[in-house]
Amino acid sequence: MLLNPFTFHAPKTISEAAELYTSLGNVKLQAGGTFLLNNLKRLKRKGGKTPEHVMSLKKVAELKGIQEEGDHLVIGAMTTMTEILDFPLLTGNTEILKVAAKNIGTSQIRNMATVGGNLTCRYTWTEMPAVMVGLEADLCFAGPDGKQENVSAEEFFAGGAKTDKLFVHAAIKKDTKALVTYHRVKKSPHLDIPLLSLLIKTNRDGKKFKNTRVAVNNCVAFTQRDRALEDLINQSGPSKNLAQEALNHLDEAIYDVRSSDYKKHMFRVAIKDALTEIIGEK
Ligand SMILES: Cc1cc2nc3c(=O)[nH]c(=O)nc-3n(C[C@H](O)[C@H](O)[C@H](O)COP(=O)(O)OP(=O)(O)OC[C@H]3O[C@@H](n4cnc5c(N)ncnc54)[C@H](O)[C@@H]3O)c2cc1C
Repeated sequence: MLLNPFTFHAPKTISEAAELYTSLGNVKLQAGGTFLLNNLKRLKRKGGKTPEHVMSLKKVAELKGIQEEGDHLVIGAMTTMTEILDFPLLTGNTEILKVAAKNIGTSQIRNMATVGGNLTCRYTWTEMPAVMVGLEADLCFAGPDGKQENVSAEEFFAGGAKTDKLFVHAAIKKDTKALVTYHRVKKSPHLDIPLLSLLIKTNRDGKKFKNTRVAVNNCVAFTQRDRALEDLINQSGPSKNLAQEALNHLDEAIYDVRSSDYKKHMFRVAIKDALTEIIGEK
């Protein structure tokens, strides 16, 4: 047998799922299953403890799909990477979701991997965290009483992405005027997970930039903001020297953690490319 036995649950509503998630105790959630099933097999192989219960979210219709709600785009936890790529209404700041989604795994993985799994699996290298922190998303979670609460993506990842609640959706305020760029560097020339990822979002206001966000994932810690670089971009405006100036002010505490010379170099390449794109020179 590939997996140790467990009891399988397939609730149909968010409140049922949130309540079961708390009451079952020794339970693992299954979204797309791309991490979970590998983990269960690995644990069995190593003789580790496997969960008594697995709860699939596949039948919870309320968790699926992308909706426009007023001036926000709301992305359900069970939305897959392929659904992001196929969604026709991603424009302005939210278009960058497609740029990130298209590099994730293979088409087979993208057909199964969900936004919820990518954000809550607690692997430090997944890519949607930098996108959500950079786009100032709010993440909505449901507790056992069915009560839903929002936490900013920034706060969630600053707290180590820990939750015992059900992730419901991410909400992003639409901004058709924002300039956004996303860069990732993979570990090898082949299909591979990222070594680093970076999202820069800003708004141009005459000769200045404003509301700049720099979300950095060094893939060994959870995504964080580079506030010093944000300030520099806001103060410098779209000058030709911006990319070079930025490279002289990088916060080593973020970029150099458990880093190789190659990775430090590639961070500089990514930042330079991102800023060159933002000032419109590329
Ligand atoms: C070969 C391969 C290549 C990959 N390459 C990349 C890549 O390049 N970039 C990248 O970013 N990712 C990559 N991934 C990761 C992929 O995106 C993740 O596997 C996926 O995002 C996890 O989503 P899932 O729906 O399969 O989660 P699952 O495996 O179903 O769930 C994993 C865990 O996430 C948590 N979880 C899931 N949904 C919820 C929820 N609604 N509420 C609370 N907790 C929840 C639970 O703890 C759950 O056990 C790759 C994966 C594979 C297997």
